[in-house]
Amino acid sequence: MSAFLPPGREVFAFLGLGSNVGDRLAHLQAAVRHLHAQRGVRVDAVSSIYETAPVGGPDQDAYLNMAARVATTRSPLGLLRACHRTERARDRVRTVRWGPRTLDVDILLYDDRRIATRRLQVPHPRLAERPFALVPLIEVAPGARLPDGRSLVRLLAARAPVRDVVMVGRQVVAP
Ligand code: ATP
Ligand code: CA
Ligand code: CA
Repeated sequence: MSAFLPPGREVFAFLGLGSNVGDRLAHLQAAVRHLHAQRGVRVDAVSSIYETAPVGGPDQDAYLNMAARVATTRSPLGLLRACHRTERARDRVRTVRWGPRTLDVDILLYDDRRIATRRLQVPHPRLAERPFALVPLIEVAPGARLPDGRSLVRLLAARAPVRDVVMVGRQVVAP
């Protein structure tokens, strides 16, 4: 499968970024720059930064999470590859499932597509149950819906009251 869309096509996708090891804000800032520097990826909006409690996985430190809207000429798998390349650039090491990491970059939404393959599922399969992903996503995708028509805001409201997702007074600089 090609890493790029047919010539002339560009779509919006939404990424969720997280870090809970080392200088978390620096990892997120570097990630936004690194993503933007890749061919066919343009970061055109970034959310606020949120400090969030880890969900699932072993006992670990709090995360910083954010979301980004990207305009991309990459195919879904091409964009996933770009996300993985950016994780590697921040020395992401995969150990236990849902374990601590310098950087995690997930594809939350890609155009209005539904994708269900072994390597890639879009919308992100756990998005609807994760306030730490929904809250920043709604900032850069207000009014957005999942491909099945469910609104992000309503999904978030269904998780109320939301605890442990706290906006911190710092933000990464959009490229
Ligand atoms: P979670 O998927 O629950 O957020 P995680 O981000 O810790 O957990 P990873 O170890 O980063 O999981 O990723 C495992 C695999 O998930 C990746 O290698 C990738 O192939 C697959 N994957 C499937 N759908 C997506 C998606 N929408 N975005 C990113 N990775 C995905
Ligand atoms: Ca993730
Ligand atoms: Ca991931």
